[in-house]
Amino acid sequence: MKANNCGHEWIVSLTQQEEESDLDTSLVQVIYDLLEVKNFAIYINKHFDAQIAAQLINKNTTLEQLSAEESLRLVEKLNENKVRITKQSDKVITYIPAYHFGKVIGVIIIETDEELPDRVTMLAVHILNIYANHLSLLYKSRQDPLTELLNRQTFDKKVMEIVSGNGFLEPRSDSKDTRNWYLAIIDIDHFKNVNDNFGHVIGDEVILLVAQLLKNNFRLEDYVFRYGGEEFAVLFQVNSEQECNIALDRLRTNISQYMFPQVGHLTISIGFLELKNMDTVSSIVNQADLALYHSKNTGRNKVTPYSDLDVSEEVTTDNSIELF
Ligand code: GH3
Ligand code: MG
Ligand code: MG
Repeated sequence: MKANNCGHEWIVSLTQQEEESDLDTSLVQVIYDLLEVKNFAIYINKHFDAQIAAQLINKNTTLEQLSAEESLRLVEKLNENKVRITKQSDKVITYIPAYHFGKVIGVIIIETDEELPDRVTMLAVHILNIYANHLSLLYKSRQDPLTELLNRQTFDKKVMEIVSGNGFLEPRSDSKDTRNWYLAIIDIDHFKNVNDNFGHVIGDEVILLVAQLLKNNFRLEDYVFRYGGEEFAVLFQVNSEQECNIALDRLRTNISQYMFPQVGHLTISIGFLELKNMDTVSSIVNQADLALYHSKNTGRNKVTPYSDLDVSEEVTTDNSIELF
């Protein structure tokens, strides 16, 4: 993309992206073209709110890369609505904050020979602002409105990404990491009773609370989805099936001990499996479902690994279980 002097093509370029990675690529290109700078590094806190480190967007930058700790401190320091400039020998380093609704969520660090004109730094502020607004809208489009968990469409995309190889290749903080991806499907037991006895508004409240408990039980880098009405899915990485089982059983126990306002105690059933390269989304979901049905069929409030099933058995013989 080459912008002419009075054009606003860059706005179109940023706001037409539907994928986060394309949006990032577009941002880097716009900065390069419009600011006419070569040495820069863009750090964005993609979680907006959380106290976590901003991540580097243009990995091939020639500038020295900041550690997680350094980027966290830098973004904190930029809290005032100001561009900071430092001089290092014959170079000028400019720090321009990225804002989203008045909150600093990142920074672009630019190295130049001369100080940048105000016009250029203001343009950078606007570019970053539009990027952040569009990123936030992209995130909203992936969410379920009631629980703010990721939605079903995002689930399909994420599973596809993982099993097609992209997810497996994601860089991790620990290079010796040998963890595998697991999928767990979680369904609230006898949820119809909640709606029947307390009404749909309380039913929705329970779904919301279970969603929050789920989020609290997993890490920021795990993916928690609202898969259907009162069904949830989680994609996460652990070292072994045993470790996965322990984590899910801890979740099961936590939910069973939680006192839901007005409703009292509730339980969940879980089925899970390890994701293997080249599986299809439908076969993975099918297998997780079979494990979930096994938990339901054998008394509920249970966790079943798909690997425990005798797959030669007819699994879904209980008509009280509603297929989805
Ligand atoms: P089981 O233990 O077999 O899972 O029993 P169940 O009663 O939970 O059965 P099932 O999972 O098949 O039923 C889910 C019910 O959840 C059916 C539907 O009325 C209700 N439901 C689905 N989505 C929503 C929602 O968004 N809000 C509320 N309040 N209820 C919902
Ligand atoms: Mg259900
Ligand atoms: Mg249910």
